[in-house]
Amino acid sequence: MTGLIQPFRISVWCLMLCAITEWVMISTSAIATSHRPQTDISACKLAANSDVYLSAGFGYELNCAPSTGTLNAFMIFVDFDDEQAIETPQSLHDFFLPAAAEWYATSSYGALTLNVTADTSRFYRMPATAASYGWARGLSYETHEKYIQDALDAYNQTIPPTDVLYVVPTANAAAISFSPTFMGDVQTRAGVYVAKKSVTFGLDAYKTWKYLVLNHETGHTMCLPDYYPFNGSATGLFIGGWDLMGLISGPSPDYFAWDKWRLGWLSDEQIDCIAETGSTTHMLTPLEQTGGSKAVVIKHNSTDVLVAELRSTNGLDSASCSTGVLLYTVSTITATGDGPVRVLDATPGSNGCAGDELNDAPLSLKGTNSYTVSEWGIKVTIVDESSDGTEIRVDVS
Ligand SMILES: [Zn+2]
Repeated sequence: MTGLIQPFRISVWCLMLCAITEWVMISTSAIATSHRPQTDISACKLAANSDVYLSAGFGYELNCAPSTGTLNAFMIFVDFDDEQAIETPQSLHDFFLPAAAEWYATSSYGALTLNVTADTSRFYRMPATAASYGWARGLSYETHEKYIQDALDAYNQTIPPTDVLYVVPTANAAAISFSPTFMGDVQTRAGVYVAKKSVTFGLDAYKTWKYLVLNHETGHTMCLPDYYPFNGSATGLFIGGWDLMGLISGPSPDYFAWDKWRLGWLSDEQIDCIAETGSTTHMLTPLEQTGGSKAVVIKHNSTDVLVAELRSTNGLDSASCSTGVLLYTVSTITATGDGPVRVLDATPGSNGCAGDELNDAPLSLKGTNSYTVSEWGIKVTIVDESSDGTEIRVDVS
């Protein structure tokens, strides 16, 4: 649940990324309203800041696991002298899979295949007690690495080099209380390279987050940041229950369009970029459905954009308690846990829904149909809603 980040020690603890497109504007009236932006799409691809840990820009480099094609993972199961397994490894495998892999297939529109090879033959006994690993005190990079290398020692078999190593403990191991991602290279004590990253699961998976913790943590292996606050404030402070890199159990867990674009799940053709003043209209189709325009990105400066996307109750967001055009800001100079993405609330003071003020943040025709970011000179207005999607007007002054 906590996010302890040591930028140069690279361990993420958790709860819990050109084509030049030119558009010819045919102006038929004195009012210059285009239906597509004229802006070069690259203007909106804000570069990641390498000094900002897990910067939410394009091209962040930290030996990230692949986000398109196949992400290969290897899964092993462990137990302890003081907390021994009474279940089968297969039952724990089935707790996570295939649901988590299907989640990625859906969220990525088929762009990412999570391919997990699991050795379900037995639990491998860790060389130390569960209590001794120090989860209750909080993990350092070194103590987390020790746990992983102990698991590799216990396994004591060759693991072909892979992208991510999953270490799954028995659900009886209460002392292994949460599920952090190790962001450094994974290698055995003998120096044999195993994986780019490792996710070590814990009791919070079984008790609270279910299989979605795998999607959250594997998001980190692809270098996605945490969107919940690290300062102890309410989990939903920055983004409510939108995107499971914030609240894993939120009602609208699908990844933001900004991140789907960065990850390569959305093409440039599915994004409208605005980097100049003027008034433009744009069609948005539901984020949770394949195909169509998914986001309007309005560039504020070299580090900040405003994004508009259409959220619905389709697909992974079937439990969403509010639908419409979701607005949020992205800052590439704000580190993980400090609010690199912040949802803008079109309905402030509403008490929200599903337990968070921000969960009913979207704009809609029947609700609040316009939102102005005065300090950025941006106004977004719903023009029309239909079964095909929602049309918005963006005014930038
Ligand atoms: Zn996290």
